[in-house]
Amino acid sequence: MAGRVTRFAPSPTGPLHLGHAFSALTVWDRAAGGTALLRIEDIDRSRCRPEWEAQIFDDLHWLGLDWPLPVMRQSERADAYRAALDRLAGMGLTYPCRCSRADIRAALSAPQEGATGPDGLIYPGTCRGRSMAEAGPEDTIRLDMAAALRLAGPLRFRETGPAREGWHEVGPLDRTAGDVVLSRRGFGTSYHLAVVVDDAAQGVTEVVRGEDLFEATAIHVLLQRLLDLPVPDFHHHRLIRDEAGKRLAKRDDARALATYRAEGRSPAEIRAMVGL
Ligand code: GLU
Repeated sequence: MAGRVTRFAPSPTGPLHLGHAFSALTVWDRAAGGTALLRIEDIDRSRCRPEWEAQIFDDLHWLGLDWPLPVMRQSERADAYRAALDRLAGMGLTYPCRCSRADIRAALSAPQEGATGPDGLIYPGTCRGRSMAEAGPEDTIRLDMAAALRLAGPLRFRETGPAREGWHEVGPLDRTAGDVVLSRRGFGTSYHLAVVVDDAAQGVTEVVRGEDLFEATAIHVLLQRLLDLPVPDFHHHRLIRDEAGKRLAKRDDARALATYRAEGRSPAEIRAMVGL
């Protein structure tokens, strides 16, 4: 047995903070005896910077973590995302959408009651009748969720994280997530499509990440089934919060690993700070 394969998948949009350190350390701990991979999630070129990527490598090495090379970068994987999107399109499960956020809000008659899912407001389906034959470069591509669920049949996945350990059914995503975006204008993919294609390409057997992404997992399992990809286990870990109970964000420079390093803290102290 080759052992478990996990991955840490940060976006180089700012400094890594204590929350990232906890996530990365959990990824490497879960891979003990197996392989922990690094993946740079840089599809949003306007927000990602090479200097943040360099800082990620540096901070992770400082924590004592190492990974096989080459590192996968999402910005270099457009062809793989295109192939997956074409496959879903060929199955008749996608349509082009031209709605702006304002259009979506306007289409929901009572926005204050408009349900939200993992991607925010649930899309009301305005463009669902449009055909892929009329898709242009300005269009977002969405998944026809009801059709996708019908085709996939019942689905479930195994969670190994302490808060929700056990098997979970994929529920009625047409109501709880709606027609999620598979490809955003200008990006050629969305987070959901890229993460599923990349986890399979990297041979990931356990996806380790923050519990804020638990709700998105059913979407990923559905895409894995539709694309004939293996369904890994999932391990969603707690989030590191500040004294006010707020989740740490990239702009919280005070909690940046670089700041602790500059203050002379050790990797062991970082571990202790995040409760490991
Ligand atoms: N890139 C995502 C983040 O920085 C992680 C995605 C994932 O682990 O699935 O939050």
